[in-house]
Amino acid sequence: MNSKLFSNNPIYLLTLSIIITSILIVLLFGIIKIEKNIEKRMFKIATEDIISISENITDSIKSILKDSDDYISIIQKNTEIQNKIESKIKILKTENIKYTYLLYKDKKSIFRFLVDTEESESKAFLNQKFDVDNPNWLKIYETKRATLIKHTILQELSITYIIPIIKDNEVKLLFAIDFSVNKISEINKIINLMEKGLLAIIIISFIFIFILVIQVSKYRKIKKSAFIDTLTNVYNKNYLHEMKDNIDLNSYVLAVLDIDFFKNINDSYGHDAGDMILKQLASIIKMNIRDNEDIVIRFGGEEFILLIKKDENKKHNVSLNVINRIFSNIQKNDFYITSDEAIRVTVSIGINVTPHENKTFDKAFKSADAALYIAKESGRNNIKIA
Ligand code: GH3
Ligand code: MG
Ligand code: MG
Repeated sequence: MNSKLFSNNPIYLLTLSIIITSILIVLLFGIIKIEKNIEKRMFKIATEDIISISENITDSIKSILKDSDDYISIIQKNTEIQNKIESKIKILKTENIKYTYLLYKDKKSIFRFLVDTEESESKAFLNQKFDVDNPNWLKIYETKRATLIKHTILQELSITYIIPIIKDNEVKLLFAIDFSVNKISEINKIINLMEKGLLAIIIISFIFIFILVIQVSKYRKIKKSAFIDTLTNVYNKNYLHEMKDNIDLNSYVLAVLDIDFFKNINDSYGHDAGDMILKQLASIIKMNIRDNEDIVIRFGGEEFILLIKKDENKKHNVSLNVINRIFSNIQKNDFYITSDEAIRVTVSIGINVTPHENKTFDKAFKSADAALYIAKESGRNNIKIA
């Protein structure tokens, strides 16, 4: 029955938390984007110089090889040329440029060293196999274009720049340069800290939201129970007090139902029997209304307000049918006052079919109550429309 009306404070808090958490998530993505942009800029700055120098060196290699028909075999056979190329490509080596080397691809498409500038014992020997971990190496043979391959290892951005050495429109050799770009460590530390901090806050927010969801559901249950009459399980006076100004009078027919001679029933059969009748009467009402649309309130001892929703065109015929059905089902019902003794009970009903014309709920109620009074005056066990 109109559970929408039970929204209240913890729900606002929950909504607020969800909004704040969403903002934090957007912020986190923003920071990740900034980090990527910084990385991009640094990458550009670091690569621009290396690219231009390495192009010069490629030209030098070509001039060392002159017009040799077979670039690969001339290097393989001639140590002098090997040394010359080695000293040329060694020039490039700096703190950030770790390796420079010249490769070729054999008939089985395996890459092998021709020249390596490594100093220590890990220096590759001539024709030593070189394992590639990226398909872009092979693509260079089709594109014939210099290619950058990036790998990020922890705080370091590691790059391999590969330049094809072309003859007769065919890639003969690959000149490769491995270099690394250190991310600007200070900025990186701050960004990292912000990312971690935000992530922690987001996780905490999610826990908070989870707790709030539980709180909200508890709150709604408590709030709801404060509005429910324990004897009959329909809304009580508290509900009426809290909600009467929110009820859209335009949408309902308002009826007031009162048990006839209830005092006599109490006097004859006892208060407990009276309670049993109230319970059974409330279930008859509930059985005949639409749970999600109509509202039943026990606002007095044996008096009920029925707010029966009108149809989409705000016509009241359907609502009156509901009220008539309740009335006649009460008339026909055997009300048990002990486990095996039943009596008949009648009610009188006053109806206001146009409560919106009264502007306020209280006035609309008064009009229905006046109709109830007339129903009582005219002998009870009947329905009167205001
Ligand atoms: P009328 O036809 O004019 O409505 O007569 P009535 O006797 O029903 O009218 P009245 O309003 O005088 O009586 C209502 C009685 O309802 C009085 C009271 O003892 C009884 N009552 C109120 N609340 C409860 C309740 O929770 N349980 C029981 N058993 N009786 C109640
Ligand atoms: Mg009464
Ligand atoms: Mg009564």
